[in-house]
Amino acid sequence: MTKIRDNLQIIGAKIKQHLSQYKRSESSALLLAVSKRHSIDKIRDAYEFGQRAFGENYVQELLDKNQQLNDLAIEWHFIGPLQSNKAKKIAEVANWVHAVDRLKIAQRLSDNRPENMPALSICLQVNISGEQSKSGISPDELTLLAKQVAQLPKIKLRGLMVIPAPEDDFIKQREVFAQVATLKGHLQKQLNETGIIVKLDTLSMGMSNDIEAAIAEGATIVRVGTAIFGQREN
Ligand SMILES: *Cc1c(COP(=O)(O)O)cnc(C)c1O
Repeated sequence: MTKIRDNLQIIGAKIKQHLSQYKRSESSALLLAVSKRHSIDKIRDAYEFGQRAFGENYVQELLDKNQQLNDLAIEWHFIGPLQSNKAKKIAEVANWVHAVDRLKIAQRLSDNRPENMPALSICLQVNISGEQSKSGISPDELTLLAKQVAQLPKIKLRGLMVIPAPEDDFIKQREVFAQVATLKGHLQKQLNETGIIVKLDTLSMGMSNDIEAAIAEGATIVRVGTAIFGQREN
């Protein structure tokens, strides 16, 4: 399993190199290790190598893993689509939820966040590429949702998340990420104007295939699975 360590080292070095190349500070992007459908042992191995942030897409899988790994100080990021009837469970174990695109979900997360836990960090998922994807809120509706979410007591609105339509061209990859970064800037301004105090410090964007473009445009969390853990198990 030293392969996982090698992979983490390679990706870590790549992130560092891109940060430097695009004149960003060395620790301004977090590597989120997407461990969905990978074993507990693989997660332990990555943890031993120093990885702390792990991403999961399926509610039951996250709950099981959280239980089996409760001796470790893992930072769990739920990055999959979330149904409102499952929000309670996620509010009890996750540190972050990335793909919120409806007020109802955010409301449930806030209502069910245990009193003794800090506010849950969330990102709003935006849909930039239009009809290709069903999830994510359209840029037109973003401001209203953000204002409502920012005022929930047990939620800390951190920023935006995007899963762009697959694209191999570097310039086009950058264009989409640049739009998301601009959107975050506008949103911050609008929130400031309405007197809502929130610091949007997160852009969750970039995967194995478009990590450089994402870092070039300001990604603060990049989500990588296969390049760390190999092909997923069934
Ligand atoms: C699965 C997943 C990833 C990681 O994808 P890989 O192809 O395994 O690198 C990143 N982000 C989201 C939202 C995912 O669902």
